[in-house]
Amino acid sequence: MNCPFCNSDQIVVRNSRPSRKNTQIWRRRQCLTCNGIFTTREKMTASFIVVEKKDGHHMQFAHSKLFASIYRSLIEHKYNDFGNSASTAQDLTQKIEEFLIYKKIKLIKTKDLCKLTFRIIAKNYPDAAIRYYIYFNHHSSVSEYLRQIKKILAV
Ligand SMILES: [Zn+2]
Repeated sequence: MNCPFCNSDQIVVRNSRPSRKNTQIWRRRQCLTCNGIFTTREKMTASFIVVEKKDGHHMQFAHSKLFASIYRSLIEHKYNDFGNSASTAQDLTQKIEEFLIYKKIKLIKTKDLCKLTFRIIAKNYPDAAIRYYIYFNHHSSVSEYLRQIKKILAV
């Protein structure tokens, strides 16, 4: 890593602190050449996880896709401003990734990832969870929506 100010590679770590259940670490770094101080964040990645699509196709887990789907379900909330929705979506995405890492999941079906995401959103943002669910699922009656959602929440 090089200094963002002078590009020197003479960098030392002055301080570090873990966060979010030890899946992230912040480091305060100092450049020995120009004394510039900057912070870096190291976080565990879930990008090694493979997502199996409905048609059997395999794809690499994409943080940005999960984030986008959560963000979309949050922004329609009339009490949520855009800034809050982005950081909330970021937190929820992180929670899901941490869960997958913690459970040592290497392969997950899209369907199961959607259920997991729904459950995690539903804990604090039930209305966003419903929007999220509707975006990914189609049923022919309200009672079927309720039945399927109850099934997911019962796990
Ligand atoms: Zn420097």
